[in-house]
Amino acid sequence: PVFADLSLSEPILRAVSEMGYIHPTPIQAQAIPAVLHGQDVLGVAQTGTGKTASFTLPMLEILSGSRARARMPRSLILEPTRELALQVAENFVNYGKHLKLNHALLIGGESMADQKDVLNRGVDVLIATPGRLIDLFERGGLLLNQTRILVIDEADRMLDMGFIPDIERIVGLLPRTRQTLFFSATMAPEIKRLADAFLQSPREITV
Ligand code: AMP
Repeated sequence: PVFADLSLSEPILRAVSEMGYIHPTPIQAQAIPAVLHGQDVLGVAQTGTGKTASFTLPMLEILSGSRARARMPRSLILEPTRELALQVAENFVNYGKHLKLNHALLIGGESMADQKDVLNRGVDVLIATPGRLIDLFERGGLLLNQTRILVIDEADRMLDMGFIPDIERIVGLLPRTRQTLFFSATMAPEIKRLADAFLQSPREITV
């Protein structure tokens, strides 16, 4: 398969081509159509499989097809570490460079006041680590009731780092009517339990 077969619009295909990508990886070939159809996804995939683009590209496509009606984040990507959050933000900038969508990073090491300012300007994609997100929520600087797309990335690392209670709390702040994309390198019983709780009839993809 080639990217042009994947029902992505021209600005996204152009950005992908400028990155030098020609063929979607197996997780991209399977996840992108499912996400564009509005399905939830349970992806069992390691880093290096191209999983970041498998959720970022269709998310950009969906967001670019509708306008923000509120200044609250329209989508949320949860990452276990600051470094992973920064990498995803870099991907978002590369893939979205021909679109007019914006993102905010909510990670440790940045000033809380600056992060509040960014959120107040309106955010299409919020990329966050769980602890920092809860921190800001508790200070009253964040509402997630317009967040219709949720990505939980590296769920097994979230588990190892003790973030599961935080994730459960965050998911409870989002609308029930939403699209959830859940990725983990492994499918331990605790991860499976979470996936069952958060996802509705997901497309299961193992690579
Ligand atoms: P990830 O698994 O998302 O961390 O991606 C691993 C690496 O593969 C990153 O450096 C991406 O830029 C690159 N990559 C992702 N998708 C493709 C693709 N379809 N063709 C070539 N390289 C890709």
